Amino acid sequence: MENITEIFGENVFNDSVMQARLPKKVYAQLKETIREGKELDAAMADVIAHEMKEWAIEKGATHYSHWFQPLTGATAEKHDAFLSAPKENGKVLMEFSGKELIKGEPDASSFPSGGLRATFEARGYTAWDCTSPAFVKKDEKGATLYIPTAFCSYKGEALDEKTPLLRSMEAVNKQALRLIRLFGNTTSRRVTPSVGAEQEYFIIDREKYLKRKDLIFTGRTLFGAMPPKGQELDDHYFGVIRERIMNFMREVNEELWKMGVSAKTQHNEVAPGQHELAPIYAQCNVAADHNQLVMETLKSVAYRHNLQCLLHEKPFAGVNGSGKHNNWSLTTDDGINLLDPGKTPHENIQFLLMLTCILKAVDCHADLLRESAADVGNDQRLGADEAPPAIISVYLGEQLEDVLTQLISTGEATHSLHGERLNTGVRTLPDFRKDATDRNRTSPFAFTGNKFEFRMVGSRDSIASANVVLNTIAAEAFCEACDVLEKAEDFEMAVHDLIKKYASEHARIVFNGNGYSQEWVEEAARRGLPNIASAVDAIPSLTTDKSVQMFEKFHVLTKAELESRREIKYESYAKAVNIEARAMLDIASKQILPVVVEYATMLAHSVNEVKAACSEACTCVQEEMLCEVSGLLKDMKGALDCLRARTDEASHKAAGEEQARYFKTEVEPAMQALRAPADRLEMLVAKDMWPMPSYGDLLFEV
Ligand code: ADP
Ligand code: MG
Repeated sequence: MENITEIFGENVFNDSVMQARLPKKVYAQLKETIREGKELDAAMADVIAHEMKEWAIEKGATHYSHWFQPLTGATAEKHDAFLSAPKENGKVLMEFSGKELIKGEPDASSFPSGGLRATFEARGYTAWDCTSPAFVKKDEKGATLYIPTAFCSYKGEALDEKTPLLRSMEAVNKQALRLIRLFGNTTSRRVTPSVGAEQEYFIIDREKYLKRKDLIFTGRTLFGAMPPKGQELDDHYFGVIRERIMNFMREVNEELWKMGVSAKTQHNEVAPGQHELAPIYAQCNVAADHNQLVMETLKSVAYRHNLQCLLHEKPFAGVNGSGKHNNWSLTTDDGINLLDPGKTPHENIQFLLMLTCILKAVDCHADLLRESAADVGNDQRLGADEAPPAIISVYLGEQLEDVLTQLISTGEATHSLHGERLNTGVRTLPDFRKDATDRNRTSPFAFTGNKFEFRMVGSRDSIASANVVLNTIAAEAFCEACDVLEKAEDFEMAVHDLIKKYASEHARIVFNGNGYSQEWVEEAARRGLPNIASAVDAIPSLTTDKSVQMFEKFHVLTKAELESRREIKYESYAKAVNIEARAMLDIASKQILPVVVEYATMLAHSVNEVKAACSEACTCVQEEMLCEVSGLLKDMKGALDCLRARTDEASHKAAGEEQARYFKTEVEPAMQALRAPADRLEMLVAKDMWPMPSYGDLLFEV
């Protein structure tokens, strides 16, 4: 492998490339656009487009693509060649104009719009997000220039993940600046959310994957008995990474580095076959784009290694699921992390105000935060096997919890606890201070030193929605604090009172104990915290009055946009479960039942042979086995008919909430009911007859 510093960002049209290639004036204007959000004039855009094209052609690109994130959960791209109309002499030129760089017009009628876009104006626009650098992506035969864009309707309504994300970044920038100005900061010009998304995934062998129709159609196993060995020995977590996986990871890293994604950490995760990749944090919208690249690269590189990457939140029932830890902080353009408490948090009044504002924000909008991580796959994961519960709470760690307690009880925080020295008892090992913000892995929203870690996001999901909510609820809380403080006669007194007020009023959201325990579920109910068990139950929080008011006030999403997102979410929920149910029907009737019948017939023959050989009436083991198999076969057939009836019934329900709810309450239990006898049969039927690889084969034989 080449040196990281040489290859890092080699395929990115980044700041140093722009500085080297663009005329000074154009470069300066583009920088200003990026920094201040100023408009870019057409002539400048032409110059940038030309240079970008020349650079991309040198990298082997023949095409460019506006790259965007519609509300399908995946990214979308439409490729156009750098090609002018043929001249009189029949020759063509490689051209790319400023207009083509700035604006694209994909036919939007096939992307979800939740009723926002009437068919007569099905046109959609992609607009260049110049704050996320363009890059060249290579494939086996060529290369394409990718231009990160936002996707809107003719009337400017957001049809994607990116547009509200950029709007929310603006909102939190404005309010956070207002707040730090009150504390005498006159130099910072921008506040940007910084985000680092840790990505969990499974890797399995591709040959085996291809034998599992459930994985192919739905990304998760719909059948499968537990293997004799699971994750109980904890021998996979941080274990030695196997050579085949290591080769795969090396290639993933190299590809990501070239595209400017700073993949940094990799390790084996809790479950067998599960791994994690974490990049170094970046500006929120760039982090969201990079996370999409991480997911795409994991999949494409795995394919080349004859492996399959599973990004589903719960590919295997009963085994640890996959998520995405969204690390979030606020950074100024001059490098200050506003969530850094410093050594003595009790004296850091600005930090305490920001912290208590965030507590208030999370407490008031716990439902929205929960919703931002809600989707059909994550329903299988949250609250099960080492994933955060569906209840939102904040973990602060001993040190901050103590400062908060002092504030609430006496109105004054006079000291900060410090991490004790870690004494290993071995002279040759260095002693060091333990983190005073000790880790609690069970919390869905944990303060980890100088950032918050939101751990609910599903592994397949874009991180955009979670950050839209984080940025906007923070903006709202900062705004309300500034409204009070800007009018205050005695600023110090007013800040002091406000911190105490927020800390006391929202103390219920703080929880430092074991989030996986049943006691917490009961305690949270006593505190009145919402426990929203499923995506279908979470979706309505998008359009409550409280949500609409906030998103409209900060120009992040309009009521119509929120309503459209709600409809899209219901629809995609229903569609996903429908596919799962139909895949189950298919697999059960065409693959499993025939095999079980064959096995039962074999047993029946064997019973007959034994009986014929016996002179008197006798019972044999084969007969017992036959009884058990036949009983389960009957259960399975009954469950299959029931699932088929309910799935058909679901298609007659009104699209939207009614249909989604029917899938949740009627179809999903019927799926469980079909799975149960099938999984028991897997344990009885001869291994070489079972029509698909088992959990053991998939998880342990990579
Ligand atoms: P963990 O212990 O949860 O595995 P790390 O401490 O290694 O995690 O960090 C996880 C992620 O948090 C990384 O992507 C890292 O870049 C990111 N991160 C670190 N500091 C910040 C910060 N100030 N703001 C946002 N993300 C951060
Ligand atoms: Mg983490």
